[in-house]
Amino acid sequence: MVQWFNLAAITSYAYARVFNPGLLVPHISVRDINSINFRKLREKGIKGIISDKDDVLTWQYVNQIYSRVKDKVAEIKAVYGNRALVRSNCAGVRFEDPGYQIAKETEKSLGIEVAKGFWKKPWGLMGLCYEFGCPPENLAIIDDRISTGILGGNLCGMVTIYTLGLSIDEETRFEKGLRARERRLVKSLMEKGVTAPIHGKYYNDACLEEFI
Ligand SMILES: [Mg+2]
Repeated sequence: MVQWFNLAAITSYAYARVFNPGLLVPHISVRDINSINFRKLREKGIKGIISDKDDVLTWQYVNQIYSRVKDKVAEIKAVYGNRALVRSNCAGVRFEDPGYQIAKETEKSLGIEVAKGFWKKPWGLMGLCYEFGCPPENLAIIDDRISTGILGGNLCGMVTIYTLGLSIDEETRFEKGLRARERRLVKSLMEKGVTAPIHGKYYNDACLEEFI
């Protein structure tokens, strides 16, 4: 696994950190997807959902749905049907997932298509907007990582929903450190009054307590 090395994320993160820190702040922050009301999102005009895989829908590096979020995944499918898509930085990424075996196993378990291609998040999100056939403002992305999904979603103009991660206790020391640094940074930015990019549907709705 070379998932931790992502040059696009590192350079985009550095850009955002220096020039536009609001790109690192999510519009909404929740413990896990069980706190998201997908019917309300739909009513508010969100026409498509893009979700990360590891630590959001499955346990890290496991390709089966995580039992705690099973009902919510069913809700996503009922509300969004084929307008829901998984975008992982492992499953469906050409050089991380040869033959897309991980993507295929994940699709079988979740019943949601996994996007396939060359680019990882954050840049890998940009092409997806065309697949949904609507402006990125009408899409929401759910991710447990600031430097990939949240940053990419904000760069595209989507609603960004941050989750804390399902299997954080089992992460490596490096991964734990990275996640803790991301959360500390976002918390300090929010305390200084930095907000997520202005969005027509959601703005400054993040829950600070989730970062404490
Ligand atoms: Mg993840």
